[in-house]
Amino acid sequence: MAEEKKVARKKIEATVQMNRYMSDYFYELNEADKSRSRKIAWCTSVGPAEILRAMGFLIHFPENHGAMLGATRMATDMIPVANASGYSPEICSYLTADVGAYMKGITPLSRAYPGIDRVPRPDVLVYNTNQCRDVQDWFAWYAAEFKVPLLGIHTHRGVKDVGDDHVASIASQMKALIPPLEAISGNKFDIDKLNHVLALSKECSGLWKKVLDTASAKPSPLTFFDGTIHMGPAVVLRGTQTAVDYYKQLLAELETRIHDRVAAVEPERFRLYWDGMPMWGRLRDHSELFSRAGVNVLASTYCNSWIFSAFDPEDPFNSMARAYTELFIVRADDAKEDYIRRMIEFFKVDGIIYHDAKTCPNNSNCRYGMPQRLEALTGIPSLTINGDLNDLRLVSDEQTKTNVEAFIEQLEER
Ligand code: SF4
Repeated sequence: MAEEKKVARKKIEATVQMNRYMSDYFYELNEADKSRSRKIAWCTSVGPAEILRAMGFLIHFPENHGAMLGATRMATDMIPVANASGYSPEICSYLTADVGAYMKGITPLSRAYPGIDRVPRPDVLVYNTNQCRDVQDWFAWYAAEFKVPLLGIHTHRGVKDVGDDHVASIASQMKALIPPLEAISGNKFDIDKLNHVLALSKECSGLWKKVLDTASAKPSPLTFFDGTIHMGPAVVLRGTQTAVDYYKQLLAELETRIHDRVAAVEPERFRLYWDGMPMWGRLRDHSELFSRAGVNVLASTYCNSWIFSAFDPEDPFNSMARAYTELFIVRADDAKEDYIRRMIEFFKVDGIIYHDAKTCPNNSNCRYGMPQRLEALTGIPSLTINGDLNDLRLVSDEQTKTNVEAFIEQLEER
């Protein structure tokens, strides 16, 4: 095991621009909330944002807020508040942290953006169960609280191959959103606007994929931990020119790094792949734990969740239905295993970390033998670490450190 040393984190210059864009996004929402000058929709992170944007809504993403609660380590104190009102400690800790924070009248937005003292009030909430059922319950709580309409798309889960029947069913549910959204927004649906938003979203998705794919270079210019920060615009600003501009800038910087052989982790002794949710309150610790040992965790199933390759502005509803159903989290284990096997080869990784997130079984893929099957198939070893996305009471730092160090020793011996 390499001796412990201080790690200098390599700063991505584009971060400054991203922070400006994110700040503008939150202040625009805040202004609309206070003046009620624009309608506001809440949307799940892989929900039908393009439809909402095309119909003139500003969009708030509660999962983004949940992740902010996690990253600022505020979540752990908020979760018990939601637990006390009947929302179990076993369910999604984005949900419990977010609802708990609302009940306490607290938001991390206030710390980051002076003058913002609450999340923007919704006129409508729109979910897609493609990721889990928790989002439906989460949004239902707020729909009752704010007395506003709740609309949803119910996606098939555990899908092996996405077929025409899946696509037809989801596309028709997407179309069914239009009349109520017209009534709420006061805007007539305009197919040209949707095509325009979808074209921008497709461009954003393509650029985001290229950004993440730079990690296939040796050495990699990017880490998974960088990805969890820089995915912000792909989540909350997809469908806008701003997101496209941002990823062009970020991609150019990373391509320069590749050209100059600038490694995100120096020296890059081992390359790992991350499956599952990040532990938001431990991003920095984990980033340093790995980089100290010369290990770059450089790619993940998680950050790839905002790549929507199937988008086609010529066929908006069917292509959105397909793109939002082809996502990793929606798929059956054999489709997921095939995907990870391809990623192992593409990113040239030496091992896989599976995060078994206690409150997110939906995005914990190590519970039904997948690590063992993939190791038998590929020979690539893996380590499962137990923890959680937001609830730090479920994270054992000592155990994580010991297990990661033992895993790196195992890689050295190979
Ligand atoms: S996928 Fe997991 S983390 Fe995301 S909303 Fe659902 S339960 Fe929560």
